Amino acid sequence: MELQWVKKPKCNECGQVIIEPYLWCPHCNNLISIQPIKGLQKSEINLKSMWSLNSFLPSFPNIASLVEGNTPIIQIKNISEIKGLNVKLEFRNPTSSFRDRASSLIVSDALSKKYNEIIGASTGSFSISLAAYTSHAALKSTAFIPRNLELSKIEQLKMYSTNIIDTNKNLDEAIKSAKKYALEQKGYFPTPNDNLLTIEGQKTIGLELALQLANIENVIIPRGSGTLILSIFRGFEDAIESGWISKFPKIFAVSLKSSSNSHIAESLEMKAPPLLDHIKKIIMKTKGRELPIDALEMIKDASKVAKNEGLFIEPASASVISAAKKLAPDEIDPKSTVAILTGSGLNALNKFAFQMRNLKKTVWGLSETSTRRFEILNLIAEKNANHGYAIWVSLGKKKTIQSIYHHLDSLNKDGLIEFQEVGNTKKCIITNKGRDMLDKMREIIDLKEI
Ligand SMILES: [Zn+2]
Repeated sequence: MELQWVKKPKCNECGQVIIEPYLWCPHCNNLISIQPIKGLQKSEINLKSMWSLNSFLPSFPNIASLVEGNTPIIQIKNISEIKGLNVKLEFRNPTSSFRDRASSLIVSDALSKKYNEIIGASTGSFSISLAAYTSHAALKSTAFIPRNLELSKIEQLKMYSTNIIDTNKNLDEAIKSAKKYALEQKGYFPTPNDNLLTIEGQKTIGLELALQLANIENVIIPRGSGTLILSIFRGFEDAIESGWISKFPKIFAVSLKSSSNSHIAESLEMKAPPLLDHIKKIIMKTKGRELPIDALEMIKDASKVAKNEGLFIEPASASVISAAKKLAPDEIDPKSTVAILTGSGLNALNKFAFQMRNLKKTVWGLSETSTRRFEILNLIAEKNANHGYAIWVSLGKKKTIQSIYHHLDSLNKDGLIEFQEVGNTKKCIITNKGRDMLDKMREIIDLKEI
């Protein structure tokens, strides 16, 4: 069964009408879009979920919904530089991210067309969202994951019993692998990153902003691959067409400043998003601009927002807070500005743990004893200390020296180290088994912090 569009998608360049939800024209490779839609009047809408906006959405014979959208907007109270800033809490969606709006449409399409597998590649939130919706619709999902994906996201994918393919590549390359697989396996295509339904689902954020706020002058949005900016702009187009607002708010796009910290917020990083040129035009049209933010600054602001406002958001989401602090008060008035908080901090616990060692121990269930064993093994492997006393000194003489000897004996008993008698001292040497163990531990504990 075909989905029914309110207005049929058309290629911006060659003018072909395309019924399938492609974002890129199969004939000339240019962007496909939908002309602004005139939907119901503001007063006719009783916003309960994204589907209350169905006069703007395509329709399907079968719908997969976990009640997404209608996310609240609240104001920043305790951070003085941006007091009064409106924040839209997109992490209040069913799987804690704005991607649920897209997943609901994509899975409805797949369900209506009787596909049994949906294939995606993303930095995690989109894969998690699709996994939840495909489970809800009793379909299968396959996720191509890029390297450096947060372990907490991988664990969630496993919970939804997603078929996980670890590409160990960057996101652009993971997306390419997903497309190839989707064509070979005859899975649902186009893949979510190249799907017009992604834009049409996420545009409901723009429509909701126009419904929920009386006066929006500026919107601050994480750039990422660009789909969120394009989507919110599409929502504003429909809101203007329907007479809900009279002009486009300025769009400020937040990108990741390239630095040694960039990996902390990889979901903001894409080498060359295909949408980049279109995004630039949109930003210019609305008289906004792009702001690059350093990943460490995002983490600090995420902690600040949790501590001062009670909102736990992931570092990539906090980028909009960092940007608002730079823009206010000269370029924006926080009271007439809204920042989109895209994802929950719970999805990125180990990114925060990069900064907070104790949190990491808690998250990964490491007892103090096992961490201490790791620290000792690491000292021996790095040849920083090779006997009991030197190890005790290196670890700051925190526990008794006897406890160090106790750990050394147990490491020796487990075959992780060997002893060599040199004069009066017992020198410790790491074994191959010890090195293997150390490598495994290094995957979950960042050495720099120890
Ligand atoms: Zn075309």
